[in-house]
Amino acid sequence: MTRPKPAATSQHPLELSTAQMRALVGQAMERITAHVTSLPDQPMHHTAGANKLVAGLEEPLPEKGVPFERLLKTLFGRVIPHSLNTASPGYLAYIPGGGLFHAAVADLIANATNRYVGVWLAGPGLVQLETNVIRWCCAMAGLPKDAGGVLTSGGSLANLTALTAARHARLPPRFQDGVLYVSDQVHHSVVKAARVVGILPDHVREIPTDAAFKMRVDLLRDAIAQDRGAGRLPFCVVGNGGTTNTGAVDDLPALGALCAREKLWFHVDAAYGGFFALTRRGKTALAGLEHADSITLDPHKGLFLPYGTGCLLVRDVAQLKAAHQVTAAYMPPSQQDAGHWDFADLSVELSRDWRGLRVWLPIKMHGAKVFRAALDEKLDLARELAQRLATLPDVEVVEPTLSLLAFRLVPPGLAAEDVDSLNRKLLGAINARQHVLLTGTVAQGKFWLRVCVLSFRTHEDRMDVLWDDLQHALKDVAL
Ligand SMILES: *Cc1c(COP(=O)(O)O)cnc(C)c1O
Repeated sequence: MTRPKPAATSQHPLELSTAQMRALVGQAMERITAHVTSLPDQPMHHTAGANKLVAGLEEPLPEKGVPFERLLKTLFGRVIPHSLNTASPGYLAYIPGGGLFHAAVADLIANATNRYVGVWLAGPGLVQLETNVIRWCCAMAGLPKDAGGVLTSGGSLANLTALTAARHARLPPRFQDGVLYVSDQVHHSVVKAARVVGILPDHVREIPTDAAFKMRVDLLRDAIAQDRGAGRLPFCVVGNGGTTNTGAVDDLPALGALCAREKLWFHVDAAYGGFFALTRRGKTALAGLEHADSITLDPHKGLFLPYGTGCLLVRDVAQLKAAHQVTAAYMPPSQQDAGHWDFADLSVELSRDWRGLRVWLPIKMHGAKVFRAALDEKLDLARELAQRLATLPDVEVVEPTLSLLAFRLVPPGLAAEDVDSLNRKLLGAINARQHVLLTGTVAQGKFWLRVCVLSFRTHEDRMDVLWDDLQHALKDVAL
């Protein structure tokens, strides 16, 4: 074609010139690099005055444009700083995300080229790179050759997609009698997913856990027998590959064996813990993962990627397809070759971003060994902290199976609710110092402080700061 390249003109202002594109990225980069390099010194949480802030941001649809520089000033000056500093090395709350910069560059490439990856035919090479990522995950998990899966926006969507496949594979079309088994430590996204796929709320069995917060397999067996006896249809068990509460990993080999005997779908929610299977210790802790029919992983946790990157693996990808595929006259023909995946047939999404590139690029640039070493470092940091905590008097510690631990003060002679309020105060006193951010939880009726080490930016120096802050906080709350 001989048509001249479109230049940004007042006629077509949405089509930027080369110079304008460069300027846009350049201006943004100035702000981004200043922000990222100052992350360690930024406060951990800065959400006071939120109502005033958001009131000042509210506005009707603007009719006229505003210069980019002014918008950047708003973003980096007012919007972004007033938040939890989830990208800081001190972020040990919930399950830390990451935000590898490489992923941001991958997104720039993916979004600027804007190819379509929902069907294989539209971008075979692009789909192949994303397929590689999924196959690498399958191999890490020990799944067989026919395994496959799909990248999702996160663990919640992966759990939802898994339950959809499980229901379709193991229950009749009228599935009202179906029963799902989870532990009392299950992530709430599984309960949400059960609701969305139509499992009756009173058919979601929360099986109690033992002192180590692992599902009681004996009680699970009893519950299944009881449900079968009453004419209900057990169809799926969800095991934990690292709980969000205390990091517990269920007895996956025992759950896998029970599911095989009972012909139940075995799903493992390894959104937090799954990528530790890249390490030797993690592989041992997650033994039995390979028996799963499906596995939830969260690259935006264990691979340090930005929020918006989840993953579902399925032992037999044909079952994922059977559960989701619907054809339409306006769609291109779907792939018959079992190795060529149309992602749109494997989940509820049709159009979506090329999220595979975000995973592929940093792995290709560094190799798995760099990720393995970073994950090993997190395992070490959590263990060292647990050892230090165990030296303190009147402290109960849930030892980390992976990189997440829980602890609480248990001074003798205090009533249970006073112990809980003391620990809540301790949490507040640690976080008030603004060097680290921890969160708490209630597990088996007790309040715990949690420490989850999973940011690629967290190293020994910040764990030492946590230790110092803990000493100060203990003095602050001293009885
Ligand atoms: C984080 C997490 C989820 C939910 O994943 P999102 O990516 O936040 O949707 C599910 N299960 C476990 C165990 C998790 O840690």
